[in-house]
Amino acid sequence: HSGLMRGVRHCRPLFQKSHKMSDPLPVGATIGILGGGQLGRMLSVAASRLGLKTCIFEPSAECPASHVADRHIQAGYDDAAALARFADACDVITYEFENIPTAALDTLEALRPIHPNRRALATSQDRLTEKTFLAELGLTTAPFANVESAPDLTHAIDAIGTPAILKTRRMGYDGKGQARIMAPSDADAALQSMAGSAAILEGFVDFTKEVSVIAARNPQGEVACYDPGENVHKDGILRTTVVPATLTASQQMDAVLLAAKILNALDYVGVMGVELFVTPKGLIVNEVAPRVHNSGHWTQNGCVIDQFEQHVRAVAGWPLGDGSRHSNVTMQNLIGDDMDAVPAAAKTPAAIHLYGKADVKAGRKMGHINRITGPAQS
Ligand code: AMP
Repeated sequence: HSGLMRGVRHCRPLFQKSHKMSDPLPVGATIGILGGGQLGRMLSVAASRLGLKTCIFEPSAECPASHVADRHIQAGYDDAAALARFADACDVITYEFENIPTAALDTLEALRPIHPNRRALATSQDRLTEKTFLAELGLTTAPFANVESAPDLTHAIDAIGTPAILKTRRMGYDGKGQARIMAPSDADAALQSMAGSAAILEGFVDFTKEVSVIAARNPQGEVACYDPGENVHKDGILRTTVVPATLTASQQMDAVLLAAKILNALDYVGVMGVELFVTPKGLIVNEVAPRVHNSGHWTQNGCVIDQFEQHVRAVAGWPLGDGSRHSNVTMQNLIGDDMDAVPAAAKTPAAIHLYGKADVKAGRKMGHINRITGPAQS
C-alpha cells in the first residue's frame, strides 16, 4: 500500500508506507470491531468505502456485521487464543457495545491500540462512575446515590425523594434493569427487581424533551459535533430522532460544548453519543455511549460524512470529516413488526437501512428509515 494518493503524481502521499502507531492508518489496513451487531455492520460498510478492512469478533454466527465484514472471528470473549488471533489480524481495535468483559480488554490492550480508550469504556460501563465523572466535570446530572442494600435505598430515597428510578449500575440498555419508584412503598419491589446487582437511584427528571449529540474526536485532538437530534423513546427503546431538534440557539451551543468537554476530558478517540434531558433550568446529561449511537443514524442521509465514517476516520487517525448537516431528517427505527412498513416505504423517497436479521422479534431493532424532510436552513 503506497498511500491513499497513489498515482496522483503532484500530491505527496498523505499516508506513508512506513507506518508508525501515531500515523494515519494506510488504505488496506484492518480495523478490528468487538461486536457484530448492526453498529458493527454499518461501521464495516463505512470502513470499506475508505479502502479499509474490518475483522469482527463476535460469538454468534449469523450476526449483522458478519455479512459485510472482511473477516469474522467467531469465538467467546473468554477465548484468549481467539482474542490473540483477532488482535493479530487488526491494526487497531474498536467496539460497537460497551459491556465487553474486562479480561478480554486486558488481553487485547497488550497487543493493539483500543479506541475509544479504557477510561472512556470504564466510565460508561458503570452508571455510578459515569455520573461521578460528569458531576466532577461540572456538568449537571440527575441527583444520584449508590444503592447496594435496603438501608442504602432508604437513605437514597430520603435524600433524593420520589419519583425516582432505580437502575442497575452495569449492563443496562434500552431501559432494561430499571425500576420506577413512585412512592417510598415501591422501594422493596424495585430493589428485588435488581436481583442483587449494584444499583444507583436517580431522581426523576421532569424533562421537556430528550436530545442527543453525536460527537467525534481524533488522536490529534480535533473535535467535530453533529447537530443535536431530538429523540422519542417508547418502552425504553428509541423510536424516532428528528433533526433539527427544537432548541434555542444557546441550548444548541450548550449541548455541543458540553459534548466536546466530555470528549476532551477523556482524551477520547472515536464517536460518542451524549444523551441529554432538556429542562427549563438547562441541560442534564443522562448518559454517554462510547460508540456510534442509534440516535446518530440520521447522519447517514443528513450529512456528507456520517457518524460511521467519522468513527472510522477517528480510530484510523485520519482527519475528521465535515459533520455539517445538509438536510432535515426524521429517523424512524424499525422495531419488531415495524418491518411490515418496509414494502410501503420502499415506494417512497425514504432511505431504508436494514440490518439483515433473519428473525423478527418483538423489541428487536431490525432496521431504520431516514426520511429527508427538507433542506437544512443555513
Ligand atoms: P437510560 O437507559 O438511562 O438511557 O434510560 C432510558 C430512558 O428512560 C431515557 O431515555 C428516559 O426516557 C428515561 N429516563 C432515564 N432516566 C431518567 C430520569 N432520571 N428521569 C426521567 N426519565 C429518565
